Amino acid sequence: MLRDSFGRVATDLRVSLTDKCNLRCTYCMPPEGLEWLPNAQLLTATEIVRLVTIGVERLGITEVRYTGGEPLLRRELVDIVARTTALAPRPQVSLTTNGIGLAKLAGALAGAGLDRVNVSLDTLDRDVFKRLAHRDRFADVIDGLAAAHDAGLRPVKVNTVLMRGINDHEAVSLLGWCLERGYELRFIEQMPLDAQHGWTREDMVTADEILALLTTAYELTPDDLEERGSAPAERFLVDGGPDRVGVIGSVTRPFCGACDRVRLTADGQIRNCLFATEESDLKSALRAGASDEELAERWIAAVSRKRAGHGIDDPSFLQPSRPMSAIGG
Ligand code: SAM
Repeated sequence: MLRDSFGRVATDLRVSLTDKCNLRCTYCMPPEGLEWLPNAQLLTATEIVRLVTIGVERLGITEVRYTGGEPLLRRELVDIVARTTALAPRPQVSLTTNGIGLAKLAGALAGAGLDRVNVSLDTLDRDVFKRLAHRDRFADVIDGLAAAHDAGLRPVKVNTVLMRGINDHEAVSLLGWCLERGYELRFIEQMPLDAQHGWTREDMVTADEILALLTTAYELTPDDLEERGSAPAERFLVDGGPDRVGVIGSVTRPFCGACDRVRLTADGQIRNCLFATEESDLKSALRAGASDEELAERWIAAVSRKRAGHGIDDPSFLQPSRPMSAIGG
């Protein structure tokens, strides 16, 4: 088992398939993009599946989420998903994506056994989208969402980051739009994980503010407080339910005490926290011929060193050197 010194057990593995992305969301990376990892440093599909297999078969991983960068940019994605859903015990397998290209791939991904998809969408306005993501791809995202829903990858979840003065006026309309289509919307507080290091606490739209905006139009009732477990989103019934909305207050309402996540970067590093400043290099060990048992031992040791919390409020907090796109969100 992947147990840390505080007794938390990691069962949810987030795997970044690439650090590359076809959007440039301002809370993530600069308009000119970043220096991408050289291909030789990326784990191959076979290496990814080998590490995921060790996680599932030996270390108690029950959920695998493929992310990035943009995971749909990884050519072998459908094959990687198929090989993951074929594992025993079969893990839940999901994808976090910006939705560009999902219209074409949703059917094949569902056929490969993908269970669910989270699509990031911050605005319903094409011009705001262009301003926020520096690319004119709004229509592709909307098509991707519809295709995922039609392919049965339900409930389709929508991830939204609100930015002050840019899209925070859209909280209510985004929720209404998602409710009409049967998508489950989750707002995520903006975290200090952008490559430009431009995050400020004052600019962050907090969970409290998000809830205040939503309650101007909807009645929200806290849902499944006891069942929340390790889920990052606080969920609320909308107008008595059954529809729900989630708010992920990563900064102002941290849930580190219940965290069950561990991350594998596209270049084969284990990160025991989004905000970890240390990583454990599985790729070098793997390429040097380490056995499955040796890799599992390294992984166990990496998780055992997980800190109690992300420490954003601590004066000594240091933003990790890798941005979100290179960690895997
Ligand atoms: N490209 C995919 C996507 O857009 O969903 C997967 C990777 S992206 C890094 C995963 C999620 O992280 C997205 O929902 C994105 O909005 C969120 N994200 C990126 N940077 C963030 C930040 N600084 N604070 C909060 N969420 C962030």
